[in-house]
Amino acid sequence: MKLVKIPETETICRNLSGGKWTTSKGKHLAVHSPYNGAAIGQVPLSTNQEVDEAVSKAQEAFPAWKQTPIKERTQFLFRFRDLMIKHLDRLAHTAAAESGKTVAEARAGVMKGLEVAEFALSLQNMDAGGLMEVSRGVTCQSNREPLGVVLGIAPFNFPAMVPLWMYPVALTMGNCFVLKPSEKVPLTSQIVGELILEAGYPAGVFSIVNGGVDAVNALIDHPGIKAVAFVGSTPAAKAVYMRASSHGKRALALGGAKNHLIVVPDADLELTVKGVVDSFTGCAGQRCMAASLMIAVGDVEPIIEKIKSTATKMTLGSEMGALIDKPAYDRISGILDRAEKSGAKIVVDGRKASAPQGYEKGFWLGPTIIDNAKPGTECADVEIFGPVLTIVRSPNLSSAMALEQKNPFGNATSIFTSSGATARYVASQATNGMIGVNIGVPVPREPFSFGGTKESKFGHGDITGVSSLDFWTDLKKVTVKWAPQADQNWMS
Ligand code: NAD
Repeated sequence: MKLVKIPETETICRNLSGGKWTTSKGKHLAVHSPYNGAAIGQVPLSTNQEVDEAVSKAQEAFPAWKQTPIKERTQFLFRFRDLMIKHLDRLAHTAAAESGKTVAEARAGVMKGLEVAEFALSLQNMDAGGLMEVSRGVTCQSNREPLGVVLGIAPFNFPAMVPLWMYPVALTMGNCFVLKPSEKVPLTSQIVGELILEAGYPAGVFSIVNGGVDAVNALIDHPGIKAVAFVGSTPAAKAVYMRASSHGKRALALGGAKNHLIVVPDADLELTVKGVVDSFTGCAGQRCMAASLMIAVGDVEPIIEKIKSTATKMTLGSEMGALIDKPAYDRISGILDRAEKSGAKIVVDGRKASAPQGYEKGFWLGPTIIDNAKPGTECADVEIFGPVLTIVRSPNLSSAMALEQKNPFGNATSIFTSSGATARYVASQATNGMIGVNIGVPVPREPFSFGGTKESKFGHGDITGVSSLDFWTDLKKVTVKWAPQADQNWMS
């Protein structure tokens, strides 16, 4: 059975600079499909000169784009969204082939990202600013102003969706946007760039600069870049946030996570098993909202047994995708070895699962469950970023909440219960930014915004939804008086 169309020819990725595709003179790295390890493309490490060219061309495009009324800017996004849907199958197969997701997951990722585009399409009707007579004959008005050329840096795990969190709103609000895709999954962005051009966006309004850390640093340091949005691991998020801030630039950097699912004895069996298993196996656990730690409160043995039997039956390839690369497999395998040494028990070992036929050279790890882990050990504390569920036992809900509150990361916490009072208690005591009740992956849907707390986010506000408007724009206030006023008032 063919699981995904693995490209037979290699795509040599190009940069999109000033509305034109350009071939980088930088060294190129091979891009491998996690499905079978095959080389499917090459990605350049763009030079500093190429970074400068792309940003300079975007700066040239900015004044006219800023002057374009929002209703006109929105028309480009309407066309772009239609094109993304027209090319959904191609986008999904490319994103799956390069990231290891199943095609269904990759398709869902594009559609979820397009929800942010749909939110951006509504801005033309929503963001009219405000005007008020603040004193006799004096009005105050506020307008949202674009910042200039802004940068988005993306991780490997959502090749289409994470960039879509950023550029629809940034562009619609009048910024020019430069995307630095993950060097592990650069191919999907090549299609996105093609569709941006087909949608008719003016040259330089949307650019792509490929590369790794050096390109990120050169982009952040470029005086033409006014704001930096980042999504990736916590160490990189912190580094990007500090570097951008040291230049006085606006920065919002989303990092990694260790999401906690709390299961109590009155939880519904079916709802909980599906919620937990989908959460830790979806996208092979490579999502920042994946379940990582399950806190079993009291006796929830029947639920754990069913989670184990459901996870064991999953078929790799059709029901669950692959890990991004061999280093990811080796890193996780090392964590599993050390988990056993720390006294925990691996009750489902995905290293024994069979790779799908014809894809044996891929990076496959089946669903894995570690039980009886101790808080403070590696498997209970670090982000594993694979299909691994660690279970810790907790005698009561308050000690479960104490663990949640100690978690240095702050993306998701979910409670599985039939009790409204328990759900309410957890939602009010939890310290993470996105809380679920009987939901394993509590990603807010637009217009509710996406963003965590603590070490999962550096910077203020969220990356999508209404909150993102404050990141992508400045509020300009205009106070007006046309005639002297007779009354005595401090504004007269
Ligand atoms: P990563 O941090 O290795 O890379 C992300 C991006 O940053 C890439 O474009 C990469 O080129 C660049 N980069 C890497 N190291 C850098 C550094 N030191 N300085 C500057 N740039 C650097 O992350 P990844 O492995 O691609 O993605 C997985 C991570 O992303 C996980 O930790 C996951 O939780 C996190 N993630 C978080 C969210 C969220 O919303 N919080 C969403 C998706 C993924």
